[in-house]
Amino acid sequence: MSAPATPNSENLYARAREVMPGGNTRTTVYRKPHQIYAWRGDGCRITDVDCHVRIDALGNFTSLIHGYGNRQILEAATRQLEAGTCFGMPTESEIRLSEILCDRLPSVEQLRYTNSGTEAVMNAIKAARAYTGRPKIAKCEGAYHGTYDPAETSQDATPATWGDIDRPGSVPTAKGTPQGVLDDVVVIPFNNTPVAEAILRASGNSLAAVLVDVMPNRAGLVPAKPEYLAMLRRVTRELGALLILDEVITFRLGYNGAQGRFDIDPDFTTLGKIIGGGFAIGAIGGRAEVMSVFDPSKGPPAVPHGGTFSANPMSMSAGIAALEELTPAAFEKLEALGDRFDQGIGACFARHGIKGQVAGLGSLRRVHLTDAPLSDYRSTFAADGAARVSALAKALFDEGVIIAGNGLMAFSTAMEDADIDEIVRAFDRALLPFAS
Ligand code: PLP
Repeated sequence: MSAPATPNSENLYARAREVMPGGNTRTTVYRKPHQIYAWRGDGCRITDVDCHVRIDALGNFTSLIHGYGNRQILEAATRQLEAGTCFGMPTESEIRLSEILCDRLPSVEQLRYTNSGTEAVMNAIKAARAYTGRPKIAKCEGAYHGTYDPAETSQDATPATWGDIDRPGSVPTAKGTPQGVLDDVVVIPFNNTPVAEAILRASGNSLAAVLVDVMPNRAGLVPAKPEYLAMLRRVTRELGALLILDEVITFRLGYNGAQGRFDIDPDFTTLGKIIGGGFAIGAIGGRAEVMSVFDPSKGPPAVPHGGTFSANPMSMSAGIAALEELTPAAFEKLEALGDRFDQGIGACFARHGIKGQVAGLGSLRRVHLTDAPLSDYRSTFAADGAARVSALAKALFDEGVIIAGNGLMAFSTAMEDADIDEIVRAFDRALLPFAS
């Protein structure tokens, strides 16, 4: 299908270009020839300013697990809006949200809030450094953890820059990242247990923490191998380093998060996205002993942490409502939607003779246009044909379905089987030019 006419978006973009660099604030939502502006969301659909309605199979980059206009979230947020959006005082809502999260996450006894996942990761890194008194942070090659310098290192590595597999380079993402920052980042290959272990051991007693996401989107959305995660836990303990589990996305993998699903016991957990019910949020959690670095009650804390809008009651109240809606039954529904999509897209690939595969678990998927085995950032980079997947995402947009440019998708409880079937039918049409 050719792109529908979007004169209102075009006009808005002309205005945006005057006052914002490239007319844009989030690089991830930038598109050519101009951005498409949202007008409103209902359930799992977005209507743009030209009145085109599309199924939202991305949910603001995985953050809207209940879609748009969920009644309970709406009521909780409206009540809070009337009572006051933020105060220079704490509110009971931050205690309640913490109680829910501590109850669900086996490794978390205490939490603190931020305004984004990026800030949560930043504070977890600072906390690990303060707790251990060590400088180095290890992270998996290519994995995305937000835009804090050490955490984003290597996320855009290419064959020209990434080095040998047993000595991956600390490739900066933002130009201007100081060498001093890069010197304290140890890059390990995802899912390569012996090589990652050797690199970690070589860091010895200068390693403060390993930061890991069990299913990193940019490394293909391929789940971590159990032995890889077991090695990270064992080796960090042996070296006296901490394990930071980034659950900003993967918390949506189950009632007890990814740590419940993968049976892993991190020292710190970082959260964000769905725990704010559609409002800006991040959180750092862990055992009381490691979280004590933030404790101001006994004198100046090792890591002072504030934030004008941290733990604001809008995000807390909406988050409480979102999590209360996220029952075991809701997770069963999300799993079933994921399974239905897998079956539908598998049939599409077969019908068109397309070498494709779908990675992911639960309500998360990433579509790849390759049948090569994917296990980490390098194999995904080599096999994926990013330009082809991005072309597929554009074609789907014109067919009325929104997915990320790299093929990432997130299903929501606002979807029913019929919505998944509609998504699959759009894939069926959009995949035609990719048929061999
Ligand atoms: N960690 C992971 C795994 C993420 O996917 C993201 C964002 O997509 C972040 C951290 C950063 O979260 P935020 O965008 O809220 O800063």
